[in-house]
Amino acid sequence: MHALTRMRSTAADTTAAALGSSRIAVVGAGIAGLVAAYELEALGHPVTVLEGSERIGGRIYTHRFGTEADAPHVELGAMRIPSTHELTMRYVDKLGLRSALRPFCTMLSDENNYLITGRGFVQVKHASGALLADLRRDVPTMSCKPAAMLFGAWLAAVIRAIGPARLRDNLASELTTLLGLADRLDLSPHIHGAQADRIDLGAVFRAHPELRTGCSPWLHGFLDDLLLETGPGLMYLAGGMSRLTDRLVDRIRGPVLLGREVVALHARDDHVRLGLRHGRLDLMHRYPAALCTLPFSVLRDLPVSGLDRDKRNVIESVTYESATKIALHCREAFWERSGIRGGASATGGRTRQTYYPPREGDPAKGAALLASYAIAEDGNLLGHFPPQARHAAVIDELSLLHPELKDSDAVLGAAGIAWGTHRWSKGCTSHHWGWGDDADRRAREMRRAARPQGRLFFAGEHCSSTPAWINGAIESALGAVAAIDAALRESR
Ligand SMILES: Cc1cc2nc3c(=O)[nH]c(=O)nc-3n(C[C@H](O)[C@H](O)[C@H](O)COP(=O)(O)OP(=O)(O)OC[C@H]3O[C@@H](n4cnc5c(N)ncnc54)[C@H](O)[C@@H]3O)c2cc1C
Repeated sequence: MHALTRMRSTAADTTAAALGSSRIAVVGAGIAGLVAAYELEALGHPVTVLEGSERIGGRIYTHRFGTEADAPHVELGAMRIPSTHELTMRYVDKLGLRSALRPFCTMLSDENNYLITGRGFVQVKHASGALLADLRRDVPTMSCKPAAMLFGAWLAAVIRAIGPARLRDNLASELTTLLGLADRLDLSPHIHGAQADRIDLGAVFRAHPELRTGCSPWLHGFLDDLLLETGPGLMYLAGGMSRLTDRLVDRIRGPVLLGREVVALHARDDHVRLGLRHGRLDLMHRYPAALCTLPFSVLRDLPVSGLDRDKRNVIESVTYESATKIALHCREAFWERSGIRGGASATGGRTRQTYYPPREGDPAKGAALLASYAIAEDGNLLGHFPPQARHAAVIDELSLLHPELKDSDAVLGAAGIAWGTHRWSKGCTSHHWGWGDDADRRAREMRRAARPQGRLFFAGEHCSSTPAWINGAIESALGAVAAIDAALRESR
């Protein structure tokens, strides 16, 4: 794969044949662009993929600590596939990756994962007492049945673990309303665990959808993500999520050109002109049609012409959340000495979430730790530090839980991405929590984002009904392919 991408990046590819005046230009080699290129070719349309960076995959980004196939790896971008995401699963199948799917161990899914509580770091298997004490501290006036208290205590724990700061700050008032509703219900069927001190939050909300009326719009919009990210039914790809995009590139016959930054887009009724930067060379190329998969956070900083007012408004108005991931290459998987086999700890502070990725490959080459995953406002706290300082800050903070990190040769290397300021996405994913489950609004916003302008078409997670997921990026690509195919056939 590495050889292939280098080969496709050579200067010879700047020839008119490769850039192609008769080919459809696909801008961006993330999952949306690659699925679109693959499907357009399947319909008989020649394509050229133009990627600004020197790698394919975009926000699917498997980082390897070493060049060998069995070097420890970690996901700096997407890492989970919900089994309900039919389109992602369809491409996993198409690309022959079904046998590489494994259950993803979520946050707090391992009894030995830790959470930060008022009593300090506590392992999940011992956490209920501390979480109930935290609940009584945060909502002192509430006194409910034990099952409702357990519901409140564990819901608060996952909101503290995964929720953005604006949700955590509002926790007491969220819980007051929700506990009032929960206290009227029989939640006993959802209690489990040897000590009857755990509760299945997903099952509670499924059995009692009326509880959602007690959530603020913020919690309502985030709740499904919260339950998805802490519940069962998530998968990952052994060998790395980048296998999806690597395999797609292998199946695309047309050129996939790296280091081709699109710096201007001009949409017309019968063609599109793209300004391309390759090293010091600036070129303008004309295409019969182009598909733009650039995040709107990137697109809005480029000179663009031929768009109507509503399109300009939607490009300007889509907001993007931040996220920062910091991974450490550790000499050994020291966390296994505390019994941790996977899952993630809720570490709080600036570090937020610490994932223990599945161990694959040769243990002699060390182990990868996703030391910090922070989203939204929290993503900016470490994200604004220069990389070296960011890595040092995470090691310092996380060593309160895992003192082994301070041993002289415990950490062999570090890697990370602050997606909020990342040159090629300027954000982690488009922001959609405010939509809640308003399906009409979702469909309307999706149509506005995806609406073509002349021969310029649009795709990417932000143009879909499941934004912020790979599934949405694929959905948008398939919609754009159908629209491009129809437009080109009509004009023949
Ligand atoms: C930290 C993080 C965690 C995530 N977790 C999950 C998860 O667990 N599961 C899940 O399903 N999804 C997850 N997502 C979301 C998922 O990764 C995205 O929805 C999806 O990958 C977006 O694909 P895309 O093709 O729309 O955009 P991108 O992947 O961003 O593709 C756009 C491409 O355009 C290129 N580009 C940018 N500017 C230019 C330019 N000027 N010229 C040419 N090319 C340019 C970029 O380099 C990039 O390759 C996560 C995302 C992040 C960042």
